[in-house]
Amino acid sequence: VVQLEYVGDLAPYDEEEAALAEAGAALKVVRAADGDALVEAAADADVIWVEWTPHLTRDVLERLPRLGLAIRWGVGYEQIDVAAATELGIAVANAPAYCTEDVAEHALAMLLAVSRQVVYRDRQGQQGLWRHGPARQKRLAGSTVGVVGLGRIGRHVARVATAFGATVLGYDPVVRSDDPAVRQVGFEELLAASDFVSVHVPLTPETHHLFDADSLSLMRPDAALVNTSRGGVVSQAALVEALDAGRIGAAALDVFEQEPLPAENPLRGRDNVILTPHEAANSPQSGRDLRRAVYGATVQWLRT
Ligand code: NAD
Repeated sequence: VVQLEYVGDLAPYDEEEAALAEAGAALKVVRAADGDALVEAAADADVIWVEWTPHLTRDVLERLPRLGLAIRWGVGYEQIDVAAATELGIAVANAPAYCTEDVAEHALAMLLAVSRQVVYRDRQGQQGLWRHGPARQKRLAGSTVGVVGLGRIGRHVARVATAFGATVLGYDPVVRSDDPAVRQVGFEELLAASDFVSVHVPLTPETHHLFDADSLSLMRPDAALVNTSRGGVVSQAALVEALDAGRIGAAALDVFEQEPLPAENPLRGRDNVILTPHEAANSPQSGRDLRRAVYGATVQWLRT
């Protein structure tokens, strides 16, 4: 089993390591700068775990004839060319649910931070400023929260937002929500009616720049956009323009088109923008669940 560029905690996990050893496998951690380095380093791998890079493209997969299973160390699997893997007889897995609650809680934390101006007010509190600057706090109870993507995370966000007394609108072209508190509407209606829009869709060709100049212009000028899904779902250039022109009230982002977000990026330094560096999924609990999912899938595959 070859684990690629895992940047997290590399402490040995006795229980999981023992299960791998019992299944007759050993784990090798490799940092490969590109596809060629990966092919060289993982030539003898039956299983590869990939977090971010290098991507398991068709070209890379074709040059790994021994490979039987490719696992994304996380939720999204845009790092693996699934069609090519399928053609080559390589199984693909991910860990779709390891951080559902974490990301939903992070989205809600950002939503509350925006609605209560927590970060903006914290800066003042830290500097000893008292009742300084415009009060733009908003009450979540009675507000309308639009949830785009009613999958695992979106449904959890919807449930908690409802518990806060918000009206929840949902948009999802595939999934029908079974939550009677969620009114499912069209995308444009959701954008026009929501005080807060929280995004929970996968990054696909259809969702790339789902939030562009056109869709952002449908949002209310006092509305806030919360994105904890994937950076590519929101056009950052269009978002910056909308913020500059006052066509949108606030934004809270955990994910970016380019990660890490470049130092000179114009999203920085704004009182109405909160930025967290792709941390929504992280907690000791999610880390444990992720390891269990990846090791579990690997051991199961090795045994079949
Ligand atoms: P999920 O697959 O359970 O749900 C995604 C939902 O989006 C599905 O119901 C699907 O029908 C819907 N969808 C697809 N295309 C859509 C569109 N064009 N418009 C509206 N809805 C659409 O996924 P999930 O577990 O809820 O994860 C949601 C997102 O969160 C993914 O992008 C995932 O990559 C991201 N994520 C981010 C982090 C992080 O650290 N910030 C961690 C985990 C997951």
